[in-house]
Amino acid sequence: MEKVDRSVVNMANKVNVLRILWENKCIFRAEIARMTGLSQPTVLKIVDEFMERGLVNISGKGISSGGKPPLMLEFRWDAYYIIGVDINEYRIEIILMDLSFDIIDKRIQDNREVDTADTILKRLAEEIRELIGEHPNEESRILGIGVGIPGIVDAQKGILIYSTELGWKNVNLKEYLKQYFDGQITIDDSTRAFAIEEKIFGKGKDIKNFLCLNLASGIGSALVLDGNLYYGSSGSSGQLGHVAVEREGPLCSCGNYGCLEHYASGRAIEEAARRVVENHWESQITDLVYGDAGKVDLNIVFEAAMGGDRTALGILEKASDYLAMAVSGVVNLTDPEMIICEGKISRECPIFMEMFKTALRRRGMKYVGREVEIVISNTENYMGSFGSASFILEQFIKSGGEAERFVRVRGNSNQRLDYVG
Ligand SMILES: [Zn+2]
Repeated sequence: MEKVDRSVVNMANKVNVLRILWENKCIFRAEIARMTGLSQPTVLKIVDEFMERGLVNISGKGISSGGKPPLMLEFRWDAYYIIGVDINEYRIEIILMDLSFDIIDKRIQDNREVDTADTILKRLAEEIRELIGEHPNEESRILGIGVGIPGIVDAQKGILIYSTELGWKNVNLKEYLKQYFDGQITIDDSTRAFAIEEKIFGKGKDIKNFLCLNLASGIGSALVLDGNLYYGSSGSSGQLGHVAVEREGPLCSCGNYGCLEHYASGRAIEEAARRVVENHWESQITDLVYGDAGKVDLNIVFEAAMGGDRTALGILEKASDYLAMAVSGVVNLTDPEMIICEGKISRECPIFMEMFKTALRRRGMKYVGREVEIVISNTENYMGSFGSASFILEQFIKSGGEAERFVRVRGNSNQRLDYVG
């Protein structure tokens, strides 16, 4: 018989108990034992260790039918903190949060005026440093900085390989931030960050296989398979936007032709609407922008579609069908239970989502037992930085609550930042 490695079992038990404590704000020890199948003495030992580390408090007593009343345990959300960062083509969002993802403080910076990676990253580092400096009570207990960015990301090395949204190529974000901060820094694609957030908090919580779609100016996707985020062999999985859907379509920045992004992304929808205006076609789109193609954006298309404009509806229908073409391929290959959508299009255009559902149903395989459920993320006011912070939280839980390295600002904190490349 194979020898069981006790330390592995102990760690698995610890992770299990920690996750239950984190998920249930208040809980009795006996309940943990029942939920995990562990013995009461084992749970007692693990909980004692967490108490020593300040992760768990006793918050009250239960009622006993004789003997000692059971103690109510409470996870301490304020034991540690996390910094979540989301970078996109519009803004940088930096949030300092506790372990329940309650926002302690946040910074939002408009990105549209500054356009180089260097300027944006310098501002990012500056903002994080200021944020840390302004919170002396939390400063020494920040578990890590999680950064989400749209594009192909080598999460292991922390390098953004390519981002259509930002127009950045080969940016070593982790190394950049390491110049300014010690401690744990994770960099990953923002749709993967969204997926891990859905796995921990959202609709993907009790689901083993699901697909996340971010339908915004670009198209992001991430897969959770067998309960784990799927990265692929080189870490570049999830490039749904670069699945070819037209044999003779235009050359894409990724090197392929006829990629989905050119037909179904927010940018593609805007582009199609702009052509309507430029060609002076009769449509509410033209009327809404008074014939100025430069004023066309997604809101205009949505408004025209809601007003029943056939041209706008046609643009959305075509885009949704292209999306369904690519997504049906993913569904056929991976058999997800659910598709969780996020992003401006999914949130603000129910017409598009209905069209997408219909198209996917039409393109679905005949002989599959279950129809995949399409839902919108229920994280109200979802912020990308929650997703990025989820990576840090997940690592913390998976380590059994170990927190040895905290985030530290390097060097003289009063000095202005200067990037040495
Ligand atoms: Zn492409």
